[in-house]
Amino acid sequence: MRTAQILNGREIAEKMLARLAKDLEAIQRSGQKLTLATVQIGESKDTVLYSQSIERTFKKVNAGYLPKIYPEKISQSDLQKEILKLNRDPQVSAILVFSPLPAHIQQAALLSTLDVLKDVERVVPPTAAAAVALIEETGAEIMGKEAVVVGRSNTVGRPATMLLLDKRATVTVCHSKTRNLRGHVENADIVIAAAGQPELIKGEWIKPGAIVIDVGENVVNGKLVGDVEFEKAKERAGFISPVPGGVGPLTHVMLIKNLLTLHKLKETAIGNPRAFQ
Ligand code: NDP
Repeated sequence: MRTAQILNGREIAEKMLARLAKDLEAIQRSGQKLTLATVQIGESKDTVLYSQSIERTFKKVNAGYLPKIYPEKISQSDLQKEILKLNRDPQVSAILVFSPLPAHIQQAALLSTLDVLKDVERVVPPTAAAAVALIEETGAEIMGKEAVVVGRSNTVGRPATMLLLDKRATVTVCHSKTRNLRGHVENADIVIAAAGQPELIKGEWIKPGAIVIDVGENVVNGKLVGDVEFEKAKERAGFISPVPGGVGPLTHVMLIKNLLTLHKLKETAIGNPRAFQ
């Protein structure tokens, strides 16, 4: 029986990090150190773990990491003042605001305070970028392929759709009101599953040879499970990403890639003051 090639996110992440480290070194040789500041409100366990794992990745490539932690009860205006300080701080190259935010904080208003040239998630949302980077890693042609994205969130589904469209795939976006999810998936050469529903995508729906990227992270009986029925799907797919160890490890790498992109954009803006008018 043929089985899919497993897309090992950890190995791919290490390979990409090694490339990005060279770019960071070149910048450091010119006397600058790129630093990401993170804005964390409260001390929820998930956010603390996420912050620590980003910090580990940043340390590996000697990029700066400045975690800013604010009390759970901080007011909207005080938080926005803190963001304005980070905007003005020349040591801070980019800013990441951790979500979810407390209920009293208006996310849209808060994020609009961020300097566009420091907003590390606005470049390309890292999870969507990681999913598409995994597809590219297969070496398969994306142009002209039928792609299905399951999920339409602003952080994953929509940006992943735009990235695939940029690569000229024919993209169908499915969501909780989609009538025939199975039919769409059966027709897809590429599937990105980002619904947050454990094993929603059944193995038998996968078109033989398809590329299957599982973004889902669901905790079931204390275990991390994806949105795809992995064991059965791998018997049909050409390539498949596991959970854990697929998309997850690549998201931090995408943050570093975005940090570098922002740096380049700033250099262009400084060299050409009209570039961002
Ligand atoms: P959201 O909850 O914001 O969005 C989920 C989307 O899935 C919605 O568009 C929803 O549809 C759709 N959906 C829900 N149920 C179904 C269903 N039964 N059939 C079809 N579509 C459905 O989630 P996120 O986009 O933030 O995250 C998606 C998953 O990715 C989660 O498991 C999350 O944990 C994981 N994730 C993983 C990351 C990583 O680094 N690996 C980072 C970020 C997220 P509708 O719009 O109609 O409600």
